[in-house]
Amino acid sequence: MSVTSLKQLEKHLNLTQDELSWKEGPLSVPLCITDHYLSLIDPDDPDDPLRRQVVPTCHENMTDDAESPDPLQEVPHSHGERLVHRYRSRVAFLATDICPMYCRHCFRRRFTGNMMGPATERDINDAAAYLGSHPEISEMLLTGGDPLTLSDSQLDHMIGVFRKASPRLIIRICTRYPISQPDRITEDLVAMFKSHSSAPFYLMTQFNHPRELTEKSIRAVAMFVDAGIPAMNQSVLLRGVNDNADTLEELCNALLFNRIKPYYLFQGDMVSGTAYFRVPLRKGMEIEQELRRRLSGLAMPSYTADLPDGGGKVPLCGSYIIKSEDKEKGSWTFRTPDGGIRTITDPQS
Ligand code: SF4
Repeated sequence: MSVTSLKQLEKHLNLTQDELSWKEGPLSVPLCITDHYLSLIDPDDPDDPLRRQVVPTCHENMTDDAESPDPLQEVPHSHGERLVHRYRSRVAFLATDICPMYCRHCFRRRFTGNMMGPATERDINDAAAYLGSHPEISEMLLTGGDPLTLSDSQLDHMIGVFRKASPRLIIRICTRYPISQPDRITEDLVAMFKSHSSAPFYLMTQFNHPRELTEKSIRAVAMFVDAGIPAMNQSVLLRGVNDNADTLEELCNALLFNRIKPYYLFQGDMVSGTAYFRVPLRKGMEIEQELRRRLSGLAMPSYTADLPDGGGKVPLCGSYIIKSEDKEKGSWTFRTPDGGIRTITDPQS
């Protein structure tokens, strides 16, 4: 059972004025919180970082002029309703617009939660034909919405069609189920993925806070990893959720310990109605520098922005170069993460 209205939610949490005055608008994602996730929220803390991710507030109803419903320009890069081709070697297939629980910071809110449901047979076949005629595509993000809202047999069929068109297609399973409803991950589901063995799968999770790593969540991800499907995490840097080095250090170390590689830490996209989640870039870069001091290379995610107007991804790590190429000496001068200075000299011949 999930909570789907403010009225139901009031029975579990003391709602604040900001939460009570939320109005569902054309670009809102629905209110839907799973029992599992609700049980993790402290009902007495209005600033609970988990609550902030799933309980809407009136701030969502305010749109900044610089924001857009589609800042990554997925729509102009779409082929049909469900296939997005923004980067040469990879595509995203929007298997469904439905999620078991909706994140208030969702960057694909132009699409997510519109209740269109799973991709049709025609969408699947059109995408497969596109794959067949674009051999440069080596990876597909199976995403949405959350693709694991589909039944095992629907997923089995979809993957079979894609892998028939492109047997060596690497598929990334992009899901928040291990966080929102870990019971969805079953031996049968994982066995179904394993049965499509012509190319690897990767599990892409979105843990944003250490408290989301529950025993059940860890077990759900471990089922994939034990089956040979590596797990990578893509957190979003969110104001009031994880915008400090202590929280992210704890999260990244806990992820790594549980065999989930911290992959990206995304700067919030400039999506309509999400300004109250975005962390100023200067602060984000300060956090990144502090994390670089504290975390091992394996535990360190790449702090990255997906630039507006479909500009693509760029790393946000500040610059460690103090002086670039001194032509006479052939040397480059760098600032170390601890504030020291070092020089690398290029070979003279
Ligand atoms: S699970 Fe993903 S697609 Fe669904 S609401 Fe959250 S961020 Fe959006």
